[in-house]
Amino acid sequence: MAEIHDHQRAAEWFKHVCRDVHGRLDGLDEGALASYIPELARVDPDHFAIAAMTVAGRSANEGDCDQTFTIQSISKLLMYGLALETHGRDEVLKRAGVAPTGDPFNSIKLDEAHRRAPNPMVNSGAIAIASMVEGDDLAARREVVLALFERYLGRRPEVDEAVLASETVAGNRNRAIGYLLLNEGIITDRVEETLDLYFMQCSILVTAVDLAVIGAAIANHGVHPMTGQQVVAPQVSRDMLTVALTCGMYDYAGEWAYTVGIPAKSGVGGGIVGMIPDVGGIAVYSPRLDAHGNSVRGIRVFEELSEEFDLHVFDADRPWRRNT
Ligand code: GLU
Repeated sequence: MAEIHDHQRAAEWFKHVCRDVHGRLDGLDEGALASYIPELARVDPDHFAIAAMTVAGRSANEGDCDQTFTIQSISKLLMYGLALETHGRDEVLKRAGVAPTGDPFNSIKLDEAHRRAPNPMVNSGAIAIASMVEGDDLAARREVVLALFERYLGRRPEVDEAVLASETVAGNRNRAIGYLLLNEGIITDRVEETLDLYFMQCSILVTAVDLAVIGAAIANHGVHPMTGQQVVAPQVSRDMLTVALTCGMYDYAGEWAYTVGIPAKSGVGGGIVGMIPDVGGIAVYSPRLDAHGNSVRGIRVFEELSEEFDLHVFDADRPWRRNT
């Protein structure tokens, strides 16, 4: 693709392609809503939003961009950043490594050789990371998490109480993981409280636009595209991007890195956020999931946009870089 110097034209072209992709994929109804958390099966399966935000604050929104949904596993990425920032790499690496697993997100397997969770994007790692949130009690620790999300969202986050209740009732597998982490000494206390915190982080409500903004901040070395605030340190955002690229898309992460090549994280609520370093964030919301737990239309959108705009991080010709 020829180099693009005209930002306005580039933005118009991007919007045009998003509209086209949205229109073409709107009728795609493959996949199924997550149902292992009963409340998640109650969302409208047809919702479909594509949102993008550049590091310079330019946006493109298509479809149901005002529709809220629960962030689910995408929260793991932000929480990983918080743990790194609060405790540093060494302490975090004692609890969760950085190795992709090829196992499902809710696998109960740990990294036996290192006595830690395999990575922070699977539930075992995310629960270990949640255990690192400081505070005297659940209320204080909730506040730390909500303040973290507030920095990214630019507003006080809301929790979907119905999903939270549903997660709590349906969360016995996560409880099993929590107690295994306790048994291995990876978590040392307050397992139930940490699980409550984990269920809450998953139940935070976002829109596709919010996810695009979050993605842009992480892609921008931690500088928020709207507020200009450093929401996370640059070296931490680098670690977040790395783990997103290797572990962010459940047990599809390898194929995703190969074909799409955009550091990304998905959640069973139907959201995917992709982060294109120095360029911006792209988010899709479409709640029908494939067998890996990824949004079916979300995968398709990213495949098409990556191809059309040379967004793979290893593309030789990346005309968008620093040109946004
Ligand atoms: N709350 C979900 C769970 O741990 C998060 C799953 C996800 O989005 O992958 O079961």
